[in-house]
Amino acid sequence: MKFPIGFQPEGVQQDTPAPPAAVREAAPAKESVVLVRFPACRIPLSYYNDRFDLRPGDIVFVEGKYEGVAGRVEKVSTSFKIRLEDYKKVVGVADTRVRGAFRQAGGHLITFDRAVLPYRQALSWFRPVPEEDGFYVNYEDAGFPLKELGAWPFSPEIMERGVDHYSENKVVYLCLDGTKGRALVEGSHIYEVEFTLTEGRISDLVCDCPCGYHCKHEAAALLQLRETLAVIAGRYSDILRESLYFAAVSKPVFFSFAMDGDADVTLTLS
Ligand SMILES: [Zn+2]
Repeated sequence: MKFPIGFQPEGVQQDTPAPPAAVREAAPAKESVVLVRFPACRIPLSYYNDRFDLRPGDIVFVEGKYEGVAGRVEKVSTSFKIRLEDYKKVVGVADTRVRGAFRQAGGHLITFDRAVLPYRQALSWFRPVPEEDGFYVNYEDAGFPLKELGAWPFSPEIMERGVDHYSENKVVYLCLDGTKGRALVEGSHIYEVEFTLTEGRISDLVCDCPCGYHCKHEAAALLQLRETLAVIAGRYSDILRESLYFAAVSKPVFFSFAMDGDADVTLTLS
């Protein structure tokens, strides 16, 4: 079976455009004081916002005690008099506006359109999206064939936990643009996995979790990649040959974010 994606034809310069910025980041900011409700807190809390144009219902991330926890905006006030030093800030908003065509693939939905649900937009559902990564990455590996599980660089224990994560549908997002792949894997936090797929070989495999070696999130992401590529090869290989790109999002995550009380959703399944 031959996948057009992950192959870089010799002598051909691959054109991999940067994914477009999520729509929400581009909207001009509108200063506000917002009331945000968190699942673990009985009463909504006030935050100052100078980075986004927030509306009631938005899912946001903040500084302070509830850092890293998604909260829901209940009220937005644009006329206020506050002491800035008394307020923690809103640092991220989930861009839940998704328009485009998706196809079914097991527990995931797949799009072949780079503009429909780019990586940074999916990331915004789970954590504040930084302007720059801020990570220091060093790659040094010869790579290994995706198809040969025995050649994968994981200990049996890590592999077992990777299989658990994969089976529990914790690879919530996965995209492959030409040879460059990225995944979001849910654990105690959301973790970002990156890899390169060239001629059926995986290399440059890294995860931003603290463990520093090849981890269960990477194993889960590669298992999901295998599954998704197999589905694509069976049903959508012509589309992929054209797009050289796909993004897969887990159905529960898609339905809880993209379909989240927003009338602005077009879902075409085929
Ligand atoms: Zn990890």
